[in-house]
Amino acid sequence: MYKSIVLTTLILLSIPVISQEGVRRSFFIPDVNGYHVLKADLHTHSVFSDGMVWPSFRIEEAWSEGLDIIAITEHIEYRPNKTDVNGDHNRSFDIAKEYAEKAGIMVIPGSEITRRMPPGHFNALFVTDANKLDVPDWKEAFREAKRQGAFIFWNHPGWKAQQPDSAQWMPEHQMLFDSGYMDGIEIANYGEWYPSTLRWALNKNLTMLGNSDIHGAIFQQYEIQKGKHRPITLIFANNNTTAEIQKALMEKRTAVLFDGMVIGRKEWLNPMITSIIDITPCPSASSSSEIKILLENRSDIDIVLQPTSQSISNGIIYPVVLPARSKAFLSLRLKNENMKAASSHTIKMAVENWHTDEISEFTMELVFKR
Ligand SMILES: [Zn+2]
Ligand SMILES: [Zn+2]
Repeated sequence: MYKSIVLTTLILLSIPVISQEGVRRSFFIPDVNGYHVLKADLHTHSVFSDGMVWPSFRIEEAWSEGLDIIAITEHIEYRPNKTDVNGDHNRSFDIAKEYAEKAGIMVIPGSEITRRMPPGHFNALFVTDANKLDVPDWKEAFREAKRQGAFIFWNHPGWKAQQPDSAQWMPEHQMLFDSGYMDGIEIANYGEWYPSTLRWALNKNLTMLGNSDIHGAIFQQYEIQKGKHRPITLIFANNNTTAEIQKALMEKRTAVLFDGMVIGRKEWLNPMITSIIDITPCPSASSSSEIKILLENRSDIDIVLQPTSQSISNGIIYPVVLPARSKAFLSLRLKNENMKAASSHTIKMAVENWHTDEISEFTMELVFKR
């Protein structure tokens, strides 16, 4: 008997261990103005409210997609699985935290204050005891969240179920804003983005966020295997400590990645596109009538540069397609003697799908030097 146990153990030990976790995809965006660009989803659910998965699965998904930070923000007021999953409002975070530490990603404590419109749904992050948000008066829930030092943002402000006509800023939202109970706003949530909320964020100086609000499995909704992503909040941070992330969110150091689009403030998108695209002169390939440069996309996000009226007048009429981690040549024809005499030329191209406001085109400058 003893011999057979030893033999079985030896056989089991000799079988190679196969990891169950799969691979972590590369999701690189170069540093911007000396800050790291951290990828966060700050609005998700698990079975502890009305989600379909266990909290540890949220960590596995985020790890596989290449994310750095996640928040599992269970509804305080809506817990349809309560009979079967009866932990308190902090339990989901406690479970997730254990797995997140092993995976090396950050999980932020948070809850979704889930009320009828107005004021609708809000996420309170960095709360220290989510149970204390479970109170009848919604105003008191906000007060309590702030007493705990929360960062609070308005979720899916254009959600048709609560705002059927268009996203409206109501007196209750003004009251929350005036009281300092609204720090940020979701520009994108799940499958949609709300251009009008981009205007609100700019006018009222709110932090911009983009999150999945996922209830099922991420792979069912987004083609992660093809390099696509859930909506993501990009956070420009010095490091990945909780204190720094909270500071970065309060200081509005964010941009939003949504369905191939990048949405954010000019002060972040300008240096971000410059750090993503490297420009190298190609003197050996240039001639007296043409300057050639090599463009390199250093990031894992696809970039397309579109001609502007200025570039068209200079003969650049085709888009420059730069998929993740790719390079492409671009030539500028020197059409007259003045152009031939100049030592460098600055040409504007529009960055497709990048938005800093609702109307204007977002452009970057390409410098052509010999
Ligand atoms: Zn919600
Ligand atoms: Zn939600």
